[in-house]
Amino acid sequence: MADFDTQVDVLVIGAGGAGLAAAIAASDLGASVAVVEKLPRPGGNTGLSTGSIPGAGTRFQRLAGIDDNPQKMTADLLGLSGDHDATDLTRMLSERSAELVEWLVDKAHIRLDIIKDYKHVAHSVPRLHAPASRKGADLVHDLVAAVERRGVPIVLSNPVVDLILGKNGEVIGATTRTAQNAVSRIGAGKTILCVNGFGASQQMLAQYCPEIAGAMYSGAKGSEGEAIRWGAQLNARLGNMASYQGYATLMYPHGELLSWTTIEKGGVLVNDKGLRFGDESIGYSGFAAPVIAQSGKVHAIFDQRIRDIAAKEPWFKEILDMGGAKKAIDVPDLASKLAVDPAALQKTLSAYGQGSDEFGRKDIGIAPLQAPYWYTQVVGGLLSTQGGLMIDQHARVLDKTDRTIPNLYAAGGAVASISGRSGGVGYASGSGLLHAIGLGWIAGTDAANAVANPSHSR
Ligand SMILES: Cc1cc2nc3c(=O)[nH]c(=O)nc-3n(C[C@H](O)[C@H](O)[C@H](O)COP(=O)(O)OP(=O)(O)OC[C@H]3O[C@@H](n4cnc5c(N)ncnc54)[C@H](O)[C@@H]3O)c2cc1C
Repeated sequence: MADFDTQVDVLVIGAGGAGLAAAIAASDLGASVAVVEKLPRPGGNTGLSTGSIPGAGTRFQRLAGIDDNPQKMTADLLGLSGDHDATDLTRMLSERSAELVEWLVDKAHIRLDIIKDYKHVAHSVPRLHAPASRKGADLVHDLVAAVERRGVPIVLSNPVVDLILGKNGEVIGATTRTAQNAVSRIGAGKTILCVNGFGASQQMLAQYCPEIAGAMYSGAKGSEGEAIRWGAQLNARLGNMASYQGYATLMYPHGELLSWTTIEKGGVLVNDKGLRFGDESIGYSGFAAPVIAQSGKVHAIFDQRIRDIAAKEPWFKEILDMGGAKKAIDVPDLASKLAVDPAALQKTLSAYGQGSDEFGRKDIGIAPLQAPYWYTQVVGGLLSTQGGLMIDQHARVLDKTDRTIPNLYAAGGAVASISGRSGGVGYASGSGLLHAIGLGWIAGTDAANAVANPSHSR
């Protein structure tokens, strides 16, 4: 038997949305739990996000008069993503999404509101629930507080470098190594991988997701793909590896998000010739590739009315208040500031929102646009990868023969996601956190139950 420095029932690797939700769920079922985190602070991509989690049929929707159900959500998500390696997870997470949101609010005391002002990508009704600030940092704050109230340690600056295997190939813990080379061996009944994907690894992007390799990356630096590497050693099955969450409007040069509300409500993107180049309403993730394909500068254009709507999102108002978008009084002024041909830009803006759209855009918000205009230069980039380990409905990791790898669970960006088989078009708003927090909750619950009732383990 391996000797360990410490031993827990459930070891959670990674303190982002998936890991923190897993820790709360497992602790509430009586398991002893520890969370180990690579970086000096918790949060990962979850802390950078806008904190929006979809739930279909929540009581918050009902109170707001929104009629929704899991079947509608499944149809919305599969309608965007098409068939892929994890369609069973799309169905299961849609079915359990309302219970998840209500668990977060009622049991973990996470502060979430239903967002009524916008639906964002793929959702046919408003179903995103987010902190009032729309900041993932506030979501992380509440999740960390919930973990700490339960007395679960979150050990920072302690990257896991290896999983520890027992005699029969079962996972029995993990080894951490600090920057000062202090090594610790942690024994665990169950281990949950919550380390996100491989967006911060150029080498893995080039190998698995070449379409977006080389684009600006605006996700967390901890996403270096360890789950994929450890999974390969255990003969784990991978899925949806070429799928990613892109973003069409990263503000240049600083990389902050231009709120997609500006485009959903009627804004457009134009190239250095003053021309639109596609249907922006396919979504912020799907439209990232067309933006990247432009050879010159790309600008987002919206108007004062849209700016006023988008400024209701506190996180984006801060960016606007810092001068994140600039004003032009009319089309000639705008053309001069964008350095594009004024006649071409006039033609583009006059045609847009009048009659049938040249690129088939159907949802034009409150377009046509009216002076004064607001604009900002944007680039397309990567927020997170969406491919990863294949799991079953209890978040247990599967090997290439579809058998579970004993004692190993995974959740969030480490897992094959629900965003399609490849490319950025299949990513629906909120899918990243649904996958992270939803699967973390499911993994933590199953792991704790399995520790408590080993004879019932499937
Ligand atoms: C700017 C931005 C906006 C977004 N907005 C939304 C949104 O509104 N809604 C939505 O659903 N999704 C959104 N997403 C996507 C979403 O943030 C991610 O899909 C989700 O946060 C992934 O959660 P996770 O727990 O799997 O990973 P993370 O939150 O990244 O957590 C993983 C943690 O594991 C740690 N870790 C990594 N390797 C190790 C190791 N070896 N040992 C120990 N720890 C390790 C990392 O440091 C990190 O803290 C957004 C993403 C970005 C970048």
